This record gives sequence, structure tokens and C-alpha cells, in this order.
Amino acid sequence: MVILGAIADDLTGATDLCNTLVREGMRTVQAIGVPDARLEVPDADAVVVALKSRTIPAAEAVEQSLAALEWLERAGCRQYLFKYCSTFDSTDAGNIGPVAEALLDALGERFTIYCPVFPETGRTVFQGHLFVGDVLLSDSPMRDHPLTPMRDASLVRVLERQTRHRVGLVPFAAVDQGPAAITRAFAEARAAGVRHAIVDALSDRHLRDIGDASADLKLVTGGSGIARGLPANYRKAALLTSGAADRLPPSRGHAAVLSGSCSAATLRQVAHFLERRPALKVDPAELAGGAAAVERAIAWARQRLGDGPVLIYASAPPDEVQRAQSKLGRERAAALVEDAMAAIARALVGDGVGRLVVAGGETAGAVVGALGVRALRIGAQIDPGVPWTSSVGGPALALALKSGNFGGDDFFEKALECAP
Ligand code: ADP
Repeated sequence: MVILGAIADDLTGATDLCNTLVREGMRTVQAIGVPDARLEVPDADAVVVALKSRTIPAAEAVEQSLAALEWLERAGCRQYLFKYCSTFDSTDAGNIGPVAEALLDALGERFTIYCPVFPETGRTVFQGHLFVGDVLLSDSPMRDHPLTPMRDASLVRVLERQTRHRVGLVPFAAVDQGPAAITRAFAEARAAGVRHAIVDALSDRHLRDIGDASADLKLVTGGSGIARGLPANYRKAALLTSGAADRLPPSRGHAAVLSGSCSAATLRQVAHFLERRPALKVDPAELAGGAAAVERAIAWARQRLGDGPVLIYASAPPDEVQRAQSKLGRERAAALVEDAMAAIARALVGDGVGRLVVAGGETAGAVVGALGVRALRIGAQIDPGVPWTSSVGGPALALALKSGNFGGDDFFEKALECAP
């Protein structure tokens, strides 16, 4: 039985939430995009639907979120969480207010809370104002974000511009007194006609107390920090099975690493692997010459897979990337690499690869799409923020999807050593 159904407005945010839930003891599955009506309800305590709805038009974000909610309701969830960024990334046109509003309406509820607080990364809310470290959100680099410039740190005001209903504040003075005071403050806000309550919090303890006080809220909204306090409620209600939440089905077959990330950490990881195991570089100019380059890479891997893990990478330092981009155009260079990695992944899995490490957020998206993977069970962390996962439905394939600057220099080897 799925207890918690979450809707996240972007993919890495969803993964972050999944990680938090697993660490709090919930068996968690991440659905990539709105789950297909045919996706069987997995054996999990939480399902997190990863959308890409942060910066699309509000009406589309609402539509996708409602479709996700419909699937989650059919899965029998008891509580719902709408997850957005801890810097409340949105514009006056939405999408946080409109999506929360639509979810409340669909659930027949009249009240929800907003708490983007993530103390580990310095995101706190005091008197309704969001701080990033020691500066107001509006004085942080988020001020000049290309898509969602945040120029007002008052979340009450930000949300007021995104919804027609009353916005209120559950202040630090109540939150700091613990769950009973927070519960009272929720009731008072609700009685005063507040539909959307921003909740102050500075610490992990506050988040856990807010979670405690939210046991009876059908919908909670916030960053992944708000999920810390919810699992304790389910445990208290004896809804969680005991045992390891991060257990994955055992993987079989060969292992391979595909890297399309050019981030500094990935370049170090590629260099580290190169010194120890076979690796092949593919480059966009060569890929532009036709399918032969991909075929060559597949044949190269095929010959070596039986002897242990191999790496195929397009990762390159900035000057090389720039050269490829000025020759082919940024989009074309990226698409060539992503399509190549997708085709190579498909071929290698066909050849019996059962453990695949993929470096690069966009690259991972392309690979997962090509493999037809629609949902992932989340396992143990390899390095902070990057868990092993296992495909849900179809033959079990273990996947470690690492974006950008995550992981230590030995990440690839480390991942393969602790593969399920
Ligand atoms: P990260 O998570 O590090 O940002 P992504 O996969 O999201 O990695 O993005 C890297 C992008 O760079 C991808 O679109 C990939 O196709 C592209 N790319 C990879 N290698 C090269 C290269 N050698 N030249 C140009 N673009 C490249």
C-alpha cells in the first residue's frame, strides 16, 4: 500500500526527495513523468512523481500535476506532498500557487502549508522571509535566475501574487514551541480563512515538529526537508513495514559506465576510471559523421564486457566542448551525444548489461527514455545525493544516475563495487 504520494516539479528535486524518504525508512519508487495508467502500483511506501513543470506555463503545470494526483489517488495514498525548490523558484504567474490550489480543490481540501526550508543548504524561513545562508532570497544569486528571478523574499507576498485565496503565516514563535503549538496555529489560521500558510522553520527539529503537526493534512507542500517529519507519523500509525527501505532486487549481468557530463567532478571521475579500466571516447564531430561511430563503440564494448566494467564517454574539458559547439552548434552537439549514449545504452542492455552508471542529468534522461524505464525503485546512496536505483516493471536493471558535480573522484568504481 502506498502511503505518501508526492509530486515534484523537477527531476533532480524528485530524486532528492526520494533519497530523504528512503533514509527515513520509506520504501520509495520514483515515477518519471506522469505515470502511465498501465503502470502497476508498486510495492512501496511512497511514490514520487517527477515532473518537469517548474517553468512551463501554469495551466500545463496544473494539468500534469492533476494527472499525477489522479494516479496517486488510485494507488490509495493517504497523504500528498507537492515538492518544489527550497528557493521557491516561481514567478508571479506561478507555478507553486496555482498547482497547490488545484491539488487542494481536487482533494476537496481547504488548507495547506508551505515550507521550503532546507537547513543543510542554508535555506531557512523567518517571519515568512526566505533566507539563503545569511542573506535574504532577494539578495542572493536567485535574484538574477534566468527563468525564475526571485526579487521578493517575503513568501507571503510571493504567494499572494500567485493565488486568489488568503495567505497567512505560522510564525517562528509558534513553530519553536513544538507540535502542539504548531497544530493550534494551523487551526487558528484555518479558522481565520487562511487557505495557504507559510510556515517558519530554522532547523531540522522545526521540520520534524511541523511534520508531526501535519499528520492530518491531506496535502503538504515544501522542499524535501518537509518530508523529514512525515515518516514518523506513518510509523506511529503502524503503516510502515520494518526492514531495510533501501533494498533493491539483485542485479545480474555485465556492468558499464556511460558519461555525457562535462562537469568538473565528472571529468575527474573519467580520468580516475581511465587509469584502471578500459574506456573509449566518442566525440561529437565523429558522431556527426553518421551511425558508424556508434556502431564502433558498441562493438568495442561488446568485446570487453566479459572482462569487467567499461566506460564510454563524451565528457570533455571546456575548450574541447567549445570547439565542438562552434563547429556543430550547441544544441546539435548535445543532441548527437545524447542520442549516441541512448543508442549505446539500448544495445549494451540488449547484450546483457544489467548494471549501468550514467553521468550527466540530460544524458541520464536520454538513456532512461531510450530504455523505456518509467519508474525507479530507490536504493542506498553511493555518494551523497546519488543512490543506486532499480527499474520497475520489465527485467530488473540497476541504474546509478549521477548529475553534474556529484560524487567523489572514484565514483564510478565505488558505484560498481556496491551495486545491488
Ligand atoms: P551535467 O549533469 O554534468 O550537466 P548533462 O548530461 O546534463 O551533464 O549535460 C551535458 C551536456 O553536454 C549534454 O547535453 C551532452 O550531450 C553534452 N556534451 C557531452 N559531451 C560533449 C562534448 N564533447 N561536446 C559538446 N557537448 C557535449
